[in-house]
Amino acid sequence: MTVFLLGVGILLFLFVLYIPFPYLFSKWKRRALRKKARGKIALTFDDGPCPGMTYKILDLLDAFGVKATFFILGRRLEGREKILEEVLRRGHEVGGHGFGHIHYWKVLPWKATADIEHCSKLLHTIAGKGPRPFRPPYGKLNLWSLAYLLKKKQPLVWWTVDSGDTWTPKPPATRVGDLLLREGGGVVLLHDLDRKNPKDEEWTLECIQQTLSRIKKERPEWKIGTISELGLP
Ligand SMILES: [Zn+2]
Repeated sequence: MTVFLLGVGILLFLFVLYIPFPYLFSKWKRRALRKKARGKIALTFDDGPCPGMTYKILDLLDAFGVKATFFILGRRLEGREKILEEVLRRGHEVGGHGFGHIHYWKVLPWKATADIEHCSKLLHTIAGKGPRPFRPPYGKLNLWSLAYLLKKKQPLVWWTVDSGDTWTPKPPATRVGDLLLREGGGVVLLHDLDRKNPKDEEWTLECIQQTLSRIKKERPEWKIGTISELGLP
C-alpha cells in the first residue's frame, strides 16, 4: 500500500511539473513581454510558409517598409524552401514553430523535443545555424520541451495580441490597432496561411494594412520591427 501511494504521489508530482509549471512560466513570460513591448510593435506570422499568403504579406510589409518575424512550421517548409529564402532575402526574421504543429501537453517528452529538433534542422539548412526564436505551437510547452529550449538558448516568444485571423467569425479588422493603442504596443499573432475562403485572406491583409497605417499615423515614434531587433525575446 505504501509503495502504491508513493508511486501515485510521484506520478502526481511529475504531472504537476509536466504541464502546470511550463504554463505558469508562459504566463509570467507573457506578462513580461507586455511590459517590454511598450512603444514597440512586432508583427509575427505563424504556420507558413505558404505559396500565396506569404508572398502577399511580404509585398504588403514592403509597401510599409516594415520587417516582421515568421515562425516556420517544418512540415509546410518541405518543397517550399524558395519561399523561406525570399522571406530572408527581404530582411525578415525567421523562427521555429515545430514540425507537425503538435500540442506538447498531449504528447510524451521525447515526441515534443523531436518535433522541435526536426524543424530546427530544416531551418539550419536554409537560414543557417541558430539559436533562433521559437514560438510554441498553440502557445503550449511541457516541462521537457521547456528545458530543452532553454538549454538550446532558443528565445521563447509568445504574443500579447491575438489578431483573431483564425477565428470564426472574425473580429473587426480595426481591433488589433485598438488593442495596441490601449496597451501601448505589443506582439501581434497573425498567420501567413493560404485559406480556402479568399475572404479570410483578405481579412488578414486588411488587418495588417489598417493596423500599420493607424499606428504610423497616430504613434509615429513607436518602433516597428522583428522580435530580435526590438529586443523582445
Ligand atoms: Zn501555429
